[in-house]
Amino acid sequence: MTVTRFAPSPTGYLHIGGLRTALFSWLTARHNDGKFLLRIEDTDMARNSEEAKDAILKAFEWIGMSHDGEVVYQSKRFDLYKQYIEQLLEEGKAYKCYMTKEELVALREEQMAKKERTRYDGRYRDFAGTPPEGVDPVIRIKAPQEGNICFTDGVKGEMCIAATEVDDFVIARADGSPTYNFVVAIDDALMGLTDVIRGDDHLYNTPKQIVVYNALGFKIPNFYHVAMINNEQGKKLSKRDGATDVMEYKTLGFLPEALLNFLVRLGWSYGDQEIFSIEEMIELFDPKDINKSASSYNLDKLLWLNAHY
Ligand code: GLU
Repeated sequence: MTVTRFAPSPTGYLHIGGLRTALFSWLTARHNDGKFLLRIEDTDMARNSEEAKDAILKAFEWIGMSHDGEVVYQSKRFDLYKQYIEQLLEEGKAYKCYMTKEELVALREEQMAKKERTRYDGRYRDFAGTPPEGVDPVIRIKAPQEGNICFTDGVKGEMCIAATEVDDFVIARADGSPTYNFVVAIDDALMGLTDVIRGDDHLYNTPKQIVVYNALGFKIPNFYHVAMINNEQGKKLSKRDGATDVMEYKTLGFLPEALLNFLVRLGWSYGDQEIFSIEEMIELFDPKDINKSASSYNLDKLLWLNAHY
């Protein structure tokens, strides 16, 4: 069964770019009689807020995109993540790294002076000595040291990156808290995701997540990385081009259907058809048809659509 999700971080309002990828995921699930799950990625305690979480859920309610099952909160799953960290340590697929911040800075400066790429040098990978005193270690996962990490992206095509570009990255910080790429891979696997559709700002997180999938023996889902929405000048969409907060469209009197119709066309098209009912979107949408190139926001089009509903 097709399972998709939307996984916002509650650090601010629901952005229309986020709503667009959520819509693509929702349509993919509904088209296939699958499931659309909602996960709140609230592990970054310093940047998360309760108001942002409420704002995102409220915007979802207004727009009318239903999700299946309970909302999953990453902040409630720390014990689970910890179990997987323990498992990887026991299996020798992850290790404790006692490098201090000062040592890391020194290493980085040394590499920069030599015009080398800054990277962790693996110095604790096979460490068997006595750990230095007074240093709380981070946990690093063993990334492959040769070959490529490849995946087929449903939008971008074949993606490959040299394994050496990934490094043994940190999966748990010195305070024991798990890191972003680690928990995303675990959750996507345990929630049974078949298709991960998200913004292409996450494209370079995917090889790291694949390292986690492989280390834990999880099945790798299909990935679709969707190009950003730009303004008409081809630059990053900003508030000057139009509202970026979904709820502002409500305040301005736009209808959810018009906004969804507008967003679905930013990155997906079906011949010359301009207006789609929600049912038609569900019937016709296929993530394989998502455009490769960035799409551009055009407020006049939205106004035109809104007038037709
Ligand atoms: N929480 C991430 C964000 O809001 C999305 C993660 C993902 O889709 O994999 O950007």
